[in-house]
Amino acid sequence: MRIDEVIVPATLSEALSALKRNPDAVLCAGGTELFSEGPAGPADRNRTLISLHGIQELRHVSRTDLYVEVGSMTTLAELLALKEGFVPETLRSVVNRIGTFAVRNLATLGGNLSVTDRFRDCFPILACMDALAEYRQGTASRWVNLNRLIGPRGTPEMPRGEILTRIRIPLGGWDLGIAHKLGFPRINSRKSSLFVALARTDKRALSDIRILYACDRALRSREIESSLAGKKIPLLPRDIESAVGAYADYCSHAGIRESSAARFLTLVRRAFNQLNEGVTA
Ligand SMILES: Cc1cc2nc3c(=O)[nH]c(=O)nc-3n(C[C@H](O)[C@H](O)[C@H](O)COP(=O)(O)OP(=O)(O)OC[C@H]3O[C@@H](n4cnc5c(N)ncnc54)[C@H](O)[C@@H]3O)c2cc1C
Repeated sequence: MRIDEVIVPATLSEALSALKRNPDAVLCAGGTELFSEGPAGPADRNRTLISLHGIQELRHVSRTDLYVEVGSMTTLAELLALKEGFVPETLRSVVNRIGTFAVRNLATLGGNLSVTDRFRDCFPILACMDALAEYRQGTASRWVNLNRLIGPRGTPEMPRGEILTRIRIPLGGWDLGIAHKLGFPRINSRKSSLFVALARTDKRALSDIRILYACDRALRSREIESSLAGKKIPLLPRDIESAVGAYADYCSHAGIRESSAARFLTLVRRAFNQLNEGVTA
């Protein structure tokens, strides 16, 4: 990527005006994804870069009983430094495994959720939690459920020409919270994947379950999740086999590589067993 102009706004409204004037500009948060790989765009085209680094209002974190709201420029290290209980524990465990200490000092939550060609590690867990993202463009703003950013083929469909400003993370407790990363830890690998399973039980029945596997695309079936809701805990072996079979069919319809599908199914089975044992990870 060739940069011929860098704009460093001091406020969000300056950044929004700069983006309006330069709709093709590249937004830069921590820059750890943008500048960690080869060219992030055609090298023959000069680009304008808008750095969000100096915008204090995008670093604000607040909490109510129902949710925590995190400014998009909050770094991953700042998220980890929040008081215990401020952010859900499963999210904290995901963030803790991203990159190195030095990377987490620069990398932001907004940047992690805005990568355009693949889902990075915070996306699957926050999508399962039904987190909302606030986007601003000019004077307009809107809240979007992260699941709406998963395109029909399971790949990211990130808004263009808008700035992600805040992320609202619901704080409802989960009886099962699994976030299992596969692949190479600490490096920015394209070969890693992330499996997330969240579940709630009520009077020994499964009241809510959400399973998302992010490999080269995001795999999530609301239909299978709904078919499991209401089942008694512990799940019967036939319930487990039927759900694993449904996930196998889902993978084959989605055209998922056999090796990825096999990993996914193993993790699904393991999550059901953990749920039965009443173990949280
Ligand atoms: C050594 C190393 C290891 C890494 N390991 C991991 C890992 O294990 N897991 C993982 O998930 N990632 C990993 N990464 C990638 C990266 O560090 C993270 O994904 C990080 O959270 C990206 O945030 P950032 O602020 O640096 O984003 P940037 O690089 O600044 O931006 C990323 C993308 O988001 C867009 N963007 C940024 N902010 C906004 C905004 N507010 N609104 C709209 N668009 C925006 C940018 O235009 C760009 O397209 C690693 C990187 C390195 C260098």
